[in-house]
Amino acid sequence: MNATASAAVSVLTRPFTRIPEVQRRRIWMMLLTAAAVAFPLVHNNDADIDSMANAAAYATLALGLNIVVGFAGLLDLGYAAFFAIGAYTYGILTAFQLQPEWSAFWEPFQFLGLVGKMPAETGDGSVVHFTLSFWLALPFAACLAAFFGVLFGAPTLRLKGDYLAIVTLGFGEIVPIVVRNWSDLTNGAAGLNGVAAPRLFGWSFGVDATPYYYVAIALVALLIFVSVRLRDSRIGRAWMAIREDEIAAGAMGINRTKYKLLAFAIGAAFGGMTGVFYVAKLQTATPEMFGFPVSVMILVMIVFGGIGSVWGVVLGAFILQLLQSWWLQDLTEWLHAIGRAVDNIWLQHVDLVPSIELIFGLILVGMMLFRRQGLIPATRQQAALTLDQQHAEVRRGGFSDLKLHGLGGEMRSPEAALDIQDVTVRFGGLTALNKVELKVPRGGVVAVIGPNGSGKSTLFNVITGLVEAEEGSIRFYGDEIMGLADYQILEKGIARTFQNLRLFPNLTVMENALIGQHARLKTGVLAAILHPPGTMAEEKQAREWAMEIFSIFGNRLAPRVTQVVAGLSYANRRRIEIARALASRPRILLLDEPTAGMNPAETLELAEQIKSLNALGLTVLLIEHKLDVVTTLADTVYVLDHGEVIAHGKPDEVRRDEEVLRAYLGRNAQASLAGASVNVA
Ligand code: ADP
Ligand code: MG
Repeated sequence: MNATASAAVSVLTRPFTRIPEVQRRRIWMMLLTAAAVAFPLVHNNDADIDSMANAAAYATLALGLNIVVGFAGLLDLGYAAFFAIGAYTYGILTAFQLQPEWSAFWEPFQFLGLVGKMPAETGDGSVVHFTLSFWLALPFAACLAAFFGVLFGAPTLRLKGDYLAIVTLGFGEIVPIVVRNWSDLTNGAAGLNGVAAPRLFGWSFGVDATPYYYVAIALVALLIFVSVRLRDSRIGRAWMAIREDEIAAGAMGINRTKYKLLAFAIGAAFGGMTGVFYVAKLQTATPEMFGFPVSVMILVMIVFGGIGSVWGVVLGAFILQLLQSWWLQDLTEWLHAIGRAVDNIWLQHVDLVPSIELIFGLILVGMMLFRRQGLIPATRQQAALTLDQQHAEVRRGGFSDLKLHGLGGEMRSPEAALDIQDVTVRFGGLTALNKVELKVPRGGVVAVIGPNGSGKSTLFNVITGLVEAEEGSIRFYGDEIMGLADYQILEKGIARTFQNLRLFPNLTVMENALIGQHARLKTGVLAAILHPPGTMAEEKQAREWAMEIFSIFGNRLAPRVTQVVAGLSYANRRRIEIARALASRPRILLLDEPTAGMNPAETLELAEQIKSLNALGLTVLLIEHKLDVVTTLADTVYVLDHGEVIAHGKPDEVRRDEEVLRAYLGRNAQASLAGASVNVA
């Protein structure tokens, strides 16, 4: 674009871009709501309104599946099962399928309006007619589907990727098969008939499309609201952490079992509600409505719209559903017209509507090739900082503020914060740790050194519950922590970094630090959705705390809080990992080669920062290769070789230890000498 054209564009869009983001969004929402409300009034075509209602129903399904697949990253190929469960719940409880004999048992239900009494077709007794209200059926089916979500989700907890997809595919197949074969309950393949239409204040919706349209739009609006609120809360962050890196999520205090099941449950609840709506609108239910193709279609909608993007999946669902019911018809007619004009027989008879699955497939392939992130991507790309921004002066909170807010504050004492005894870890035939004993005194800095493969990282893994020890004991402030789950160990106050960076790469710097605080925050599902004042305050404090932690690193992180971490420099990503660990207000910080990949200046800077943190009263256990860093920081050094502690003591004592020189420095020296001689040769 040349300069004049871009100037013209910016003049035209200036009035709009000048409006603050929040208000702009509000204007969009108002326009969208107005359009949605006005549609049936200005476009008085029942078939089209019905198509829109269907599209809205698919949008709610896509929103539900998006929680499982998009937020929590659990690939679910059997989502239609929950749609079916909701649909049949309402269908069975309003149709004439089940007719148990009338007895006094039913009277309270009759009083509540849930059942009616009607004469039996044969004989002269009375039978029960279920008459569950549509409005009650929505929450009821949501709960029932959520229950099945947990039930189907539980066996998949340890599975990932392909395996998870295959198990969910299995459940997705099982539900329609059960429906088809349990004829007494579901009327089998023939389907349920006579499902009741919803009633509102005594007025029945009947078969007019308009009231269904409004219910569907209201449902979409509700589920968008719930999705957005969850996404931007502690719950949504926990899901995204699991999606990005399960191991890091556990190490940051997230109970993966709980949050995965929660995602399955809430996603299933959305599906169950949609099932109620869909069957109420059609007033029939057959097993074919909930098969594998439906699950795939919902998945395609999500991928098309943007996995994890709330507005994206809604847009994707509307476009693909309307493509099917509106545009393909029109397109077919145009093709026929063109065929007549050019006298081409094939064009005159082509029909695109039955090829919908082929067309979906083509769309999917096209998206994967050209726009993998979907129509509206979930993560917005941020431009890198300008030089000015990078060098801008940033308020330094200083370390003393941190102490006031619960970091450090430990008095130095020879008593052990962490006391490791006789820990042995084996991987098959390899003994990675052999009867290791190590003490970290309160308020101290202990360094672990040793050649590569000597078991240093394994020691961290065993402390933080990632690896199981064969024997031994690990006490933290007197409590045995061996055998606890990873998230429980973080809750106790042990936070770590990883040797090979385990950040949440597609989340922002701020989100990473907020996830670090997961265990210290309380927001549950309801609070996340309803935003009571306490939750808002908690969220605000969490952000302030994150900013305070960032200020430890001067202006390295603070100006970049809204940036996605994957795009940042290696040194900054190392700092973010430390910040994320500190955000959890640990009592001891475990750093696994924190300065790896940093240049000498950056190494020195980080060493200073670690020193200041320790001066605040934070206990540190450190794995480090750079001996000068070890000497400046550590009070005590442990040397590991082949999984055994071969020496420990003050840094300069250890440096003079003969065995250490031989096992560690000596071998390295020999190796480098060998390398040198090879080079010379
Ligand atoms: P360091 O951190 O000191 O370089 P590690 O603790 O990473 O060493 O590894 C110690 C030994 O244990 C190495 O031989 C490594 O290959 C092995 N090891 C580490 N983790 C595993 C694992 N999960 N499965 C099998 N072997 C492992
Ligand atoms: Mg290591």
